[in-house]
Amino acid sequence: RDEGTLISEHTSNLRDADKRRDRGTSIKESLGKAYLIALIGTPKSAIDGCLIAVKDNICTSEEPTTCASAILKGFHSPYPATVVEKLKHAGALIAGKTNLDEFGMGSDSINSIYGAVKNSYTQDGGSLSAGGSSGGSAVAVATGQCDAALGTDTGGSVRLPAAYTGIIGFKPSYGMVSRWGIVAYANSLDTIGILAKDSSMARNIFDAVEGFDSRDPTSIPVSTRSRIAQQLLERKAKQGWGDTPSVRVGVPTEYNTAELQPEVRRAWLETLQGLRNQGHTIHMLSLATTKMALSAYYVIAPAETSSNLAKYDGVRYGNKNSALERADNVLFASTRGAGLGEEVKRRILLGSYSLSAAAIDNYFKTAQKVRRLVQRDFNNAFALSHPLLKHQDGSGSEPKVDVILTPTAQSLPPRHSSLKNKASIDSYSVDFLTVPASLAGIPALSLPVSIAGQDGIDQNAPTSVGIQVIAQYGDEEMVFAMARSIE
Ligand code: GLN
Repeated sequence: RDEGTLISEHTSNLRDADKRRDRGTSIKESLGKAYLIALIGTPKSAIDGCLIAVKDNICTSEEPTTCASAILKGFHSPYPATVVEKLKHAGALIAGKTNLDEFGMGSDSINSIYGAVKNSYTQDGGSLSAGGSSGGSAVAVATGQCDAALGTDTGGSVRLPAAYTGIIGFKPSYGMVSRWGIVAYANSLDTIGILAKDSSMARNIFDAVEGFDSRDPTSIPVSTRSRIAQQLLERKAKQGWGDTPSVRVGVPTEYNTAELQPEVRRAWLETLQGLRNQGHTIHMLSLATTKMALSAYYVIAPAETSSNLAKYDGVRYGNKNSALERADNVLFASTRGAGLGEEVKRRILLGSYSLSAAAIDNYFKTAQKVRRLVQRDFNNAFALSHPLLKHQDGSGSEPKVDVILTPTAQSLPPRHSSLKNKASIDSYSVDFLTVPASLAGIPALSLPVSIAGQDGIDQNAPTSVGIQVIAQYGDEEMVFAMARSIE
């Protein structure tokens, strides 16, 4: 296995969709070798020998970790992220690093020093958005360059790319998978996410990377994990779940927005119908604060960014403007001015403003209150009690549900050409359906549902849309079970 070649080829592949096709063969050969390694001796785990790509904001020790930012160009982390160590320990092979929106900020994977990640070509030759910010990881999986990939999901960054490229994108509960070694964007929301072709591969990777990590202060302790496992066992015993697999599926009315494209709405309805045919029950419910979630997210995430990215000043971290002396008082401004992209700067400015004395009450504190309401809405909807909350509110919709099903994105992937004239604020609205689960810290998975059979589908459109499965905190089991029922 020539890891070095694969890495560099792999990365550039993601920057150039044309070359990707030619290189498919050489990467397939490496894949063959990987499987061969797995076949020799007993497999270490279910993912032994699997080739896994890693988003370039997750530290690896062999390759540079750049976050697709000029300020970190050539940066080599002195240590790998816990998730990368765990993957290797399970016998997986790291395929290389994948392109992304700078520091994870964006929804189309176009804010990158390496250029835009390109999704499949349409029949008329135009390319589509791969979704963001883990678009490189999604395209690597969708095009078969690796078996699966790691991404990060702060407000939807694995679910949206998964929806746009027709694969699975899974965001675990906050704190289940260690964040040690991920370059922070918004710590209170950042999670490691998994991209794969099917849910069983995503599950196998999740099993390999989850677990307590003392180096991550927000990692869920072992005792809480056992309590959650116990809670799930009790539910299984009570419901006879598995024998009579009838699940209560919640449908939040607020997700049925006027902006939903007809193809997406139809796929959502057909999926619900399919579940009903399998014996599951469908329940309408209300998550009233959904409408405020997006605004709250775009206050909280930039506020945390403005603090996290202060360390890239050319002294503590980052490539400094070499023409200037260390003591020069324009060093910081010039280093950051040249090293950070437009979107990142915009977020730092927005965040610094919402944390300022003049704005903190109206913006930051209000957003935190909205976040609590979003969490409460979800919590009231689920039958399973929240394992981390002592006092359950108990109010809310009846009957309580086991899982919530929504679309992942309101529309099909936009064309790159249409993004050029779009204000960045417009791209924020793309995250409308994914940020609520992020604010609540609960598990969510996007899976592709075919629209190929629908009437009047544009020939240039993709053949699937993303459907999102959301469950109570710690209930990844329900998320995967539901995904299997739909797949
Ligand atoms: N598009 C969202 C943002 O730009 C989400 C990104 C993410 O989850 N990393 O913040």
